[in-house]
Amino acid sequence: MLYFSYGKEMYRLKTEKLSTSNKDIARAAALLKGGGLVAFPTETVYGLGANALDGSAVEKIFKAKGRPSDNPLIVHIYDINQVSSLVLEVNDNAKRLMEAFWPGPITIVMKKSDKIPSSVSAGLDTVGVRMPENPVALRFLKACGVPVAAPSANTSGKPSPTLASHVAEDLDGKIDAIIDGGQCSVGLESTVIDVSSEVPMLLRPGGITFEQLTEVLGHVVLAFECKEGAAPRSPGLKYQHYSPSAPVYVVRGDFDEYVIQNSKKYEKVGVITSNKADYPSNCIVKRFDSEPASYAANLFAYLRSLDGEGVQVIFAQDIDCKGINLATNNRLYKAAGYKIANFKGGRLI
Ligand code: AMP
Ligand code: MG
Repeated sequence: MLYFSYGKEMYRLKTEKLSTSNKDIARAAALLKGGGLVAFPTETVYGLGANALDGSAVEKIFKAKGRPSDNPLIVHIYDINQVSSLVLEVNDNAKRLMEAFWPGPITIVMKKSDKIPSSVSAGLDTVGVRMPENPVALRFLKACGVPVAAPSANTSGKPSPTLASHVAEDLDGKIDAIIDGGQCSVGLESTVIDVSSEVPMLLRPGGITFEQLTEVLGHVVLAFECKEGAAPRSPGLKYQHYSPSAPVYVVRGDFDEYVIQNSKKYEKVGVITSNKADYPSNCIVKRFDSEPASYAANLFAYLRSLDGEGVQVIFAQDIDCKGINLATNNRLYKAAGYKIANFKGGRLI
């Protein structure tokens, strides 16, 4: 295999582009079992997988992504029988969630067993476990036969990848292989819920909604807002995420008027909206329809694509927090670094 060195780092020259054929899935699994890194599609976003039981393989994930070491990884499984060796206990709340939502876009945080290397859990005494429902992900995980630690397959801080080409943009030459399974159907990272203590805590909103969770568990505490001064419970949440290079503003109130007035200050402007107005000619418009699932599925691709077109600023229309919109909003606000423009009657309020 060919490598080149840059400073102290060693990079592979070539990332294998694999299909979803049985032969390619077997190849991908062999690379992973040999200690390598393989990006694979799931219904949420593309994951960057390593053998979760191999601490040194897991450390390569942090290097390739430039991920801070205090940000834990999710462990992916294909069979519910794999859970028992990864955690100390599967309590009633965990059982209810697994029964209702696995396989699916939800990560369940439980007290970890000694089998989980501390690099996976970032030194915490808990581990997040997920069984995805994407058939390609399940075939790959089964071929691996080991639990697979996988965060999103992007450079840390960039929008998560929802296409194989997004993974290649960020990680080509830094990882062993990418399995191309087309577009991710949910398009946002999994819901993360911590059931390791008595009161379930929703650490990250995602494809399984708050409403669905409360139906199964009763009381669920929202624990994903990063209020100033308070340490967020989910370590990854303190970092700015999902950000394109251009600054993003979430616009509340009179969206069209805001865009018309403020786009004059720039040469090229990105606009994300469901409105049908005619925007100035220097605006590149990404129009989402009224179907919330379709906005969720496309948000990250919009951000990457606007970046690719070289816009200087992105104006995104605010949306409500019902159902999947809670998760879309969460990612949008993070991409914006919480920059909000409240615009009414021709001026900022
Ligand atoms: P990613 O898949 O890239 O979104 O990264 C996984 C995210 O899951 C992390 O950033 C954390 O926010 C969350 N997570 C994973 N394991 C745990 C855990 N043990 N406790 C709390 N949050 C976790
Ligand atoms: Mg991520």
